[in-house]
Amino acid sequence: MTWRATLLTILPEMFPGPLGASLAGKALAEGKWALDLIDIRDFATDKHRSVDDTPAGGGAGMVMRADIAAAAIDMARHRAAPETPLLYLSPRGQPLTQDRVRELAKGPGAILLCGRFEGIDERVLEACNIEEVSIGDYVLSGGELAAMVLIDACVRLLPGVAGNETSLAEESFAEGLLEYPHYTRPREWEGRAIPEVLLSGDHKAIAKWRREQAEELTKSRRLDLWEKSKRR
Ligand code: SAM
Repeated sequence: MTWRATLLTILPEMFPGPLGASLAGKALAEGKWALDLIDIRDFATDKHRSVDDTPAGGGAGMVMRADIAAAAIDMARHRAAPETPLLYLSPRGQPLTQDRVRELAKGPGAILLCGRFEGIDERVLEACNIEEVSIGDYVLSGGELAAMVLIDACVRLLPGVAGNETSLAEESFAEGLLEYPHYTRPREWEGRAIPEVLLSGDHKAIAKWRREQAEELTKSRRLDLWEKSKRR
């Protein structure tokens, strides 16, 4: 079965965007994954195709209506494969991790609800039991870019997409650590040499050096990951 991203958005013209280029774009053209776009405005009931209204209780901005978002979600569930998880990209969500990306990539795909304005009426999030996922502690103007980030992270893990399965096994987060540093030619650049061990041909020593570097980097840059990796 083809991994399918079903997007709920008021800006379908943003897709595939960067997902149409490079690895993801090639895989999309080859049918290794599929993109299904649902325009939330198609479920509006007025002639202006409006999907938002003023916030109950007052305040700035607009809120996406529950009835309209729910109708769009029903359509997405109807079109996506059974058991496809439904996610709402939201700064309030659980941070997206490589572990969650791996799980999503193994499944049938994802239904991704992209918010706009101040967000979406809370009742639809409760009623549809939506998983809220954040791509970081900052606020974007809409969920579309966040959805692209999630899709890109999943697609590169699909069989036959990345081409080099070994590199996936060794990259950052694969074992709960950040990745070791990389070098390539020239051997010396502006007085900086490639670490001698990497030129030694001694695969055991290279693996040991890389492991140590990965541990050092993780310890110094991401103590949270380091502590977690020790519990794995
Ligand atoms: N009022 C919201 C808040 O303070 O939490 C922010 C709304 S934001 C302007 C509009 C939409 O962008 C959100 O509904 C969400 O879909 C998306 N978004 C913004 N930041 C995000 C993030 N860090 N991760 C995922 N989605 C995000």
